[in-house]
Order: sequence, then structure tokens, then C-alpha cells
Amino acid sequence: MKKVLSGMRPTGKLHIGHLSVIENWVKLQEKYETNFFIADYHALTTQFDDTAMLQKNIRNMMIDWLAIGLSPEKSTLFIQSKIPEHAELYLLFSMITPLSWLERCPTYKGQVEQFREQSGKDITTHGFLGYPLLQGADILLYLANYVPVGEDQLPHIEITREIARRFNFIFRTKLFPEPEGLLAKIPLLLGTDGRKMSKSYNNYINIMSTEDELNKKVKSMITDPERIRKDDHGHPDICIVYQYQKIYNEDISGVISENCKAGKIGCMECKKLLFEKLNTHLLPIRERRLEIENNPDYIDDVIADGNKRAGQKAQETMTKIKEAMNLI
Ligand code: SF4
Repeated sequence: MKKVLSGMRPTGKLHIGHLSVIENWVKLQEKYETNFFIADYHALTTQFDDTAMLQKNIRNMMIDWLAIGLSPEKSTLFIQSKIPEHAELYLLFSMITPLSWLERCPTYKGQVEQFREQSGKDITTHGFLGYPLLQGADILLYLANYVPVGEDQLPHIEITREIARRFNFIFRTKLFPEPEGLLAKIPLLLGTDGRKMSKSYNNYINIMSTEDELNKKVKSMITDPERIRKDDHGHPDICIVYQYQKIYNEDISGVISENCKAGKIGCMECKKLLFEKLNTHLLPIRERRLEIENNPDYIDDVIADGNKRAGQKAQETMTKIKEAMNLI
């Protein structure tokens, strides 16, 4: 069975953009040997000075994953820093990876600038430059064949493939596969105000919003700004509500679009349709989350078992890596 690996940084409450990613993982569980990890080391690359909530965020993320449908029976669910081989392989890869591969990574300079502009924070650390290298170690430690990613992450997968090729060439081995990005049709959801979904803009929909909170968020979504009255002819393609309708009300999105263009549906009515659908989608997740949260022993067991299984896989690969490098 082909192997899949992916991770997520524990940076706080999950929003609806994360939900699509995790729901895609849930589907992959049926087809592949899946490994999903909470990337706490990766969180440190940008939030090294803000770790007070880290343990709480890790636990909450595991609860969210389970509530959304990741299964500890079908997938190996684990925490990155609990498997020391990630850090060890990162170090070994740093010996063979030319610095220029990391410096030319297209997201590096952009993110450094973005952080400087948004928060005045300097993230030009060794750790942040080496971020794709740590990702390479995460992936190759489990000999993953596929990595579910968004298009913006493809360059990182390319670096991982280059590292795998270089390692195999230098140490005359076929140990590492060349992993491929598994592009899913995951929609890039914008925030309720049309900007990038972000905690700092408070424009995101929290997966665990109460019904009331969800209703308020949907009501606050911006629509076609030229549409004042119900019979004004609308432009759904520039409307944020419609972007969500296409995903969550896919079966009736065509009708909504036609009615909007013809001035036959008001924005309040349209938002109501979206709220109802979203609420129906999120309700069972909220209920499962509550159930899981009230069972701390179960959560502890899931985490301990996942870490154990991941640790066994990592140790197996690490032994082969060290043999190839003549370190044992
Ligand atoms: S009717 Fe719906 S799609 Fe059209 S502008 Fe209003 S909210 Fe957007």
C-alpha cells in the first residue's frame, strides 16, 4: 500500500479552511497507509517566542482531528516532537543539502517580508530557512510516496525529492522514494471580509462555532457591493457568500447564481441557505468533539498509541539511513 504523510501546525483553533484539508485526509485513509502529525517543531519556526499555548493547542488539534473523522485505527496520528528521529534526520540532511536550495525556495523571502510587515518580527533564523529541510525529514522518515498539499507547497516537495535523489546518489542506495504532491481539489476559502482568512483579521469561521456565532459570521459576510435591493442584478462571481455556496451548497449553487443575476433572491435569504447548510455540516462535528473532549483517557491513549507506532516506523527507517551513511 502506498504511503501518505501530512502535518499541520498547532497554531490555535481550526477554521473552516482547515476543515476541507482534514476532510480530504479522512478520504485518503481509505486508500493509503496514512500518517498525520501535529507539526509542533514547525510551529516554532515562526512562533518560537510564543509557546505558552503550545501544549493546549496540540491537544485541541488532536481532538478536532478525531471529531472530524480521522481514525486512530486507520491512520497513524502523532506529535512530531515526540519522535526524536525527525530532528535527527533534519540534522543529517543538513549535511548534504546545499544552502542555495533553501535560499531559492520561493516562499522563503515572501514570508520573511510578510512577517516583517505584519508584526515587525524577524524570522530570518536558521530554523526558518531550514523549514523545507525539516519537511523533507518528516516525509522521508516514513518513506512516504504522496504528500497532500496545496499548490503553494509544491516547491517544498520538489526540495524533498532533490534531497531524496542526492542522498540515494551519495550513499549508493535506493532507500528513499521520490515523493509526489497529491493535489486535491481543496478550495481556497477567503475570510468573511474577502481578505485572506486570518486570526488577526478576525474574518475566519471557527469549526467549533456555536450555532449563534456561526449565524453572526455568515450574516457578516460581504456580498456583491453593488447589490442594494433584492431586485438588483447581482454578480455572484465577486461575492464571498457565493464562493462558500459553491462548496457547501454545490447542488443548488447554479440556481442561486441564476437567481442572483436575475435579482430573484435577496442576500439575506441566500445567507440563510448557507448558514443552514454549514450548520448541518458542522453540527455532528461539534457533538463528536464534545464527546471526545469529555473522555481524556481516550485522547491520551490515541496520542500514546500514535506516537508509539510512528516511533517504530521512524526507528526502522533511521537504522537503514545510518547503515547507508556508515554511522553504525
Ligand atoms: S444573492 Fe447570494 S450570491 Fe448574490 S450577491 Fe447576494 S449573497 Fe451573493
